Amino acid sequence: MTPLLAKSIFVLLAVGWFIIRFPYARRSRSMRVVRSARGAREIALLLTSLTGLGILPFVYIATGFPRFAAYPFGPAQAWIGLFVALASLAMFRLTHRALGRNWSVSLDVRENHELVTDGIYRHLRHPMYTGFWLWAIAQALLLPNWIAGFAGLVGFGILFFGRITKEEEMMLESFGDTYHEYMSRTYRIVPGVF
Ligand code: SAH
Repeated sequence: MTPLLAKSIFVLLAVGWFIIRFPYARRSRSMRVVRSARGAREIALLLTSLTGLGILPFVYIATGFPRFAAYPFGPAQAWIGLFVALASLAMFRLTHRALGRNWSVSLDVRENHELVTDGIYRHLRHPMYTGFWLWAIAQALLLPNWIAGFAGLVGFGILFFGRITKEEEMMLESFGDTYHEYMSRTYRIVPGVF
């Protein structure tokens, strides 16, 4: 494992994620939104996450900035990063397949929205967010830079903790007791833990 290979793995993670998401993003545009928790706050959270998971690491990969925050590359660390990146992509594939047309980049309930409780959603309520946490961990392991590497954990962490309660409130308003019951038998992002 070399620093260049580790950076390439991060780029492939982002490309893989885009390829998995693209057809669902296209389809979701044609589905009417009936309830939404979008707004300035949601946009700010999305931009924060995008900066941490995408913009800062890509600036680092392209330019080496911020150089003062660099630390020595560890091959073993980067190998673990590769496996975490693969787990992240597997999670995006499983979650998009299970959610199908019910997916939105923001907090939206769409026309004929169905509550998905099977596939990977049988075990977790927010497995796509598990996928993004795995992305952020892979980023920290692959990029030997205190700022560019850890920006994903901070940026996505802000989105996650800023959104999760609102999302569950929105789902409760839309699906009532069914979601309540679903909440009582599932964890959010890590089975048996949280
Ligand atoms: N929080 C989920 C989904 C993220 S995408 C996860 O991490 O896997 C966000 C959109 O998914 C929201 O707009 C919400 O309407 C929708 N959503 C969340 N959980 C859902 C479920 N169990 N079934 C159907 N749609 C869901």
